[in-house]
Amino acid sequence: MEQSQETTAADPGLAAYALSGSTRARLGERAAETARRLAGEGIVAVALTWVDVSGITRTKTVPVDRLEHAARWGVGMSPVFDVFLLDDSVVSGRYIGGPTGDLRLHPVLERLVPMAALPGWAHAPALRYAQDGSAHPLDARTLLRRETDRLAALGWSVKAAFEIEWAVSKGGGDDFSPACKGPAYGMTRVTELAGYLRDVLGALKSSGVTVAQLHPEYAAGQYEVSVTAEDPAGAADTAVLVRETVRAVTLEHGLAASFSPKVEAGSVGNGGHVHLSLWREGPAGGTANATARGTANSLPGGPANATGRGSVNAMAGGSGPYAMTGAGESFTAGILHRLPALLAIGAPTVASYLRLIPSHWAGAFACWGLENREAALRLVTGAEGERETAANVEVKCVDAAANPYLLLAALLAAGRDGLGTGLRLPEPVDVDPAALGEDERAARGIAPLPASLAESVAAFEADPVLRDALGEAVIDTVSAVRRGEIALLDGATPQQIAAATRWRH
Ligand code: GLU
Ligand code: MG
Repeated sequence: MEQSQETTAADPGLAAYALSGSTRARLGERAAETARRLAGEGIVAVALTWVDVSGITRTKTVPVDRLEHAARWGVGMSPVFDVFLLDDSVVSGRYIGGPTGDLRLHPVLERLVPMAALPGWAHAPALRYAQDGSAHPLDARTLLRRETDRLAALGWSVKAAFEIEWAVSKGGGDDFSPACKGPAYGMTRVTELAGYLRDVLGALKSSGVTVAQLHPEYAAGQYEVSVTAEDPAGAADTAVLVRETVRAVTLEHGLAASFSPKVEAGSVGNGGHVHLSLWREGPAGGTANATARGTANSLPGGPANATGRGSVNAMAGGSGPYAMTGAGESFTAGILHRLPALLAIGAPTVASYLRLIPSHWAGAFACWGLENREAALRLVTGAEGERETAANVEVKCVDAAANPYLLLAALLAAGRDGLGTGLRLPEPVDVDPAALGEDERAARGIAPLPASLAESVAAFEADPVLRDALGEAVIDTVSAVRRGEIALLDGATPQQIAAATRWRH
């Protein structure tokens, strides 16, 4: 491992996110109270989790009696995990690498929940700080909070939700052997695993997750759960909690869950689609409050926020395409415009590009369309009558291996840039672009998305907006990890790639 890291990856733009002494004291008091309540509920330990650059959820845990200490002072963890690959081998970037250094993991207390699927355990997403309390520049949850705040300062908030797809295998062994035989979307599949699916729903509910629906998906043994939209950090927290809950219930039933983008080389993969809607703070059509910072967490859910001002969905009720407002269109166009670069975060593994192929509902072309499941961006308007709350754009080309915090931070930054430049959408696409043929696609300006991780990384490194929003340390570290995984799987067959990725996320 090289030892030549630049000494600091510090990002001055994160100064506002540092932990002060008074915050530590307040967190300690709150944690003591929480720990007393948890102990009364039979909780023994708390898992503090964060998601690494390669998309794997890592953890340190504390007995419930140490929660107060953890909230105030954090739990130690090496920064080197930022350069771990999916097989746990380690690379080195310009800023991160090597055995030295210490980060403090602090539980996000307002998102601490008992994990019904792991009796005696609670889960808390963690924030990572340096020992001096400064925010770690690779802390994806903090980067997401900063993007949320940047939008809030312009008068906007975002509601987000991840769809989680997974494939269930009979337990034991490294191969995938579907745990049910029923057809795609078939009721047979529910009947076959009814007790398991009931327990998934029960555990999610008991952990405070609001499930919108659960269904058998297309691929063998595949299911999907979708949840209601939340503020962005909350949506990413929920994505982690849902995955760990599903994994635990699956194991409890003697089965195994794969969230890999491509479980079997020849099959349909697991997406991790992101639904986004953009909300205007303040009276409809009114001017934004430029000091709206910090309100995003309390916003989503109702027609009016705590201050009595309305919040209005910019994806509906406007005069743009399919009734998007100009802002909704620009936000969407900002994301569309940068999809190749965004894929370095949203489709982060070599296996992701086995999934991201035409005519598999993965959204392999850089285009958008109304309810078009082959477009990278699918506009969902919702049923007549509920559009004001339901309209959103679904980012389909991203998968379940992505770090949900980093992905949302990048999507919000791209959308914010679209808003700032007043970007317009091209013509919508209402067919499978694969059916058009190359000439017709070229005439309509529909480009295929990157066909490999190397292409996405090249676009990512060249992208000024993401560099500016996320910071040098993120660009460098993400690129180093991606290059490490490309090298790791160089020359592997699709089936070998699928096998190496299958049980990692
Ligand atoms: N499993 C598909 C994917 O790889 C998505 C199917 C769907 O549209 O939900 O993204
Ligand atoms: Mg699906």
